[in-house]
Amino acid sequence: MLDKRNFYRLPWSMNDNPIAWIEITDICNIHCEGCYRQYMTGHKSLEQLKEEVLFFKQWRNPDNFSIAGGEPLIHPHIVELVAFMAGQGIKPVILTNGQALTPELLHELKKAGLAGFTMHIDSHQGRPHWKDKSEKEHNELRQKYADMVAAEGGLYLVFNSTVYPSTFHEIPDVVRWGQENFEKVQGLVFITYRTATLDDNVATDKNDQQVDISKLSYTRETFDERFVTSPEVYQIIKDNFPEYEASGYLGGSIRHDSYKWLIGAQVGSKHKVYGSVGKKTMELAQTGHHLWTGRYLAYLSTAKIGSKIFWLAPWDSTLRQAWKSRVNDVLRHPGHLLDGVYTQSIGIIQAPDLLPDGRADMCDSCPDITIYNGQFVNSCRMDEYRLFGGFLSVTEKKQAEQQQ
Ligand code: SF4
Repeated sequence: MLDKRNFYRLPWSMNDNPIAWIEITDICNIHCEGCYRQYMTGHKSLEQLKEEVLFFKQWRNPDNFSIAGGEPLIHPHIVELVAFMAGQGIKPVILTNGQALTPELLHELKKAGLAGFTMHIDSHQGRPHWKDKSEKEHNELRQKYADMVAAEGGLYLVFNSTVYPSTFHEIPDVVRWGQENFEKVQGLVFITYRTATLDDNVATDKNDQQVDISKLSYTRETFDERFVTSPEVYQIIKDNFPEYEASGYLGGSIRHDSYKWLIGAQVGSKHKVYGSVGKKTMELAQTGHHLWTGRYLAYLSTAKIGSKIFWLAPWDSTLRQAWKSRVNDVLRHPGHLLDGVYTQSIGIIQAPDLLPDGRADMCDSCPDITIYNGQFVNSCRMDEYRLFGGFLSVTEKKQAEQQQ
């Protein structure tokens, strides 16, 4: 069983958080199962986006902008926006499905100051020509984008995928592919799928009026399977890759035992994954970066961290194991001494869970908070504001009947 005492609780908060989640459009060029955004307003203007950038800069103290949507690459002013963010001294990172990415656009974005991409690829996106293909088969698509981004050079690249009960067992195929691309891929993120079902839930708005939640994109008629949890994702990775270890977490906003964000960083080279960093290194990375730059850290500027990371091994028993593995590897293959040492993170996110009393257990200190009407709201639930003016309370029908 996971024990929170073994991990560093990330020190992020509402007003001092490395991530500013800025949604620039709600239009997308594909439709992923589990997407929580629906098309209502279209592209935001560049003027509005610049105002949001400055609002985040004033109230959030971010280290990076996560440029989200919809699909940000189809926004007509994406290059100007990236340049504006970079001009503010904050790393712009685009969250994309990659469909609209070309080497030419990639080059333009890099010139404008882009720091990297988080690319969403999984087998439930209904992509043309990729229907009914497994996660393992989708590695071919991941490889295409990893090669394209590596050919441009100097950009950070993370792949995320939503985990469904039907794809849970395929997680090792994605991790294995990531490890084979240690030099090109700086992180993997697994987000556990959640939905609200219509057949056994009722929802009320802030005035206690019952509302029709079928209008929300993250509802469906029924869902008979059991949701996958973060500890289960952690365990399947750990069972298949013992060198992996998590080092930081965010808990739930209500439940003391939730792992809403669980983050680890593997250390390795193109030949071998040596191990992972432990909680001491994660703590030092966060506090050291804050001391040095005044901001916490979500994305490194470079994944090629070098052997100097092992200087921390005396204080970090998890990292010490990685260092021993590196030494053994070099003793067996002296040529590997010249291999660059990289980190590759693995993040696990457990999306909000509905509790029987109608509340939702959210991510404590939500890193993906965005702006709606001049207020910060959790981006995963912004459509409740857009459609119903505020968060809904979703209760099981049985319980609602008992309360009447
Ligand atoms: S609560 Fe925040 S961090 Fe968690 S899933 Fe929702 S938007 Fe993302």
